[in-house]
Amino acid sequence: MATPLRNRILTGDRPTGKLHLGHYVGTLENRVRLQDQYECFFIVADLHTLTTRPEKDVIREVPANIRNLVLDELSVGIDPATSHIYLQSMVPEVTVFYLLFGMLVSVPRLQRVPTLKDVMRDLEIHTPSLGLLSYPVLQAADILMVRANLVPVGKDQSSHVEVAREFVRRFNTLYGEVFPEPEALIGEVPTLVGTDGQAKMSKSLDNAIYLSDDATTVERKVMGMYTDPTRLRATDPGHVEGNPVFIYHDIFNPDKDEVEDLKRRYRLGQVGDVEVKRKLARALNAFLEPIRERRRELDQQPELVEDVLFHGTLRVRQEAQATLELVRAAMGLDYFPELRARLREGSSKFL
Ligand code: ATP
Ligand code: MG
Repeated sequence: MATPLRNRILTGDRPTGKLHLGHYVGTLENRVRLQDQYECFFIVADLHTLTTRPEKDVIREVPANIRNLVLDELSVGIDPATSHIYLQSMVPEVTVFYLLFGMLVSVPRLQRVPTLKDVMRDLEIHTPSLGLLSYPVLQAADILMVRANLVPVGKDQSSHVEVAREFVRRFNTLYGEVFPEPEALIGEVPTLVGTDGQAKMSKSLDNAIYLSDDATTVERKVMGMYTDPTRLRATDPGHVEGNPVFIYHDIFNPDKDEVEDLKRRYRLGQVGDVEVKRKLARALNAFLEPIRERRRELDQQPELVEDVLFHGTLRVRQEAQATLELVRAAMGLDYFPELRARLREGSSKFL
């Protein structure tokens, strides 16, 4: 098997809602920046949503979320002509990798993955299902199926990439070199704080500014942001460090002189929250407007999302099948070749 011409990226999102500023700085920015340098596979991880929400009324919302997710990716500048955006549940090969990798990891190892504890705490889950416990196994299957080299993700996901790396070491030792060891690439802002000052902006914590929020909504959310709780009046000296309003200013306001001036006056008690927030809302809206504009254009093309997913999913299946052949051969699971060939003829390309 020839080595791929370009190194590969795999990353993506669960279709549980729209993308927000945290996704942008955590991973989207890297996706856009690296898409010409790497062959990129961007997964819409719909099977992963079942790990926490298998209920039918939640599944019913998934198609609308998938549509929004793909539109969000395209509107920040992901180019579907070069990058492959694909739908996980339409790649049955992933389940085979998932099953095989499941043999190469112990239950206590998966119980130690820190995100599992976070999710269980946040969602008040007392005992994880097998599916939730093996969330990182499915994610490793996604990554390794395309033999990805780089995985641009937010910091919360780095422990999952570590599990994928362990699979590579174990698999390659047992059966021979098939997989490259993927590396996590953490965004410039590893974890963006939420508008409520909670550690992480997140769809499920209702503390997010979405890429598709209109200007008025952004303004309302910014005006309601958590700032410095110790500061009661505009004349009280305020804290800039760790203050979400200033964290966002530092990231999204390109006018550095304005930011420095606001910080200086804030520390001295010479500027009110309202002015700081108004200027932030203006900066965020300037950042978001071109994204919204593109989204409006893309929204005019009703077939676009399915077309993008069609081409992306076909491409990833090709790659998954090629990797599966390598895996079967390496493991010695390629027995009864005539039988497999006959079965393939008869029905299932999946074999
Ligand atoms: P949920 O609340 O449903 O878990 P989420 O907002 O945490 O949603 P995910 O779909 O879990 O989003 O994450 C998608 C990607 O975005 C991951 O790579 C994750 O690390 C990154 N990401 C999510 N939130 C942030 C954040 N606040 N800061 C930086 N990166 C983030
Ligand atoms: Mg999350």
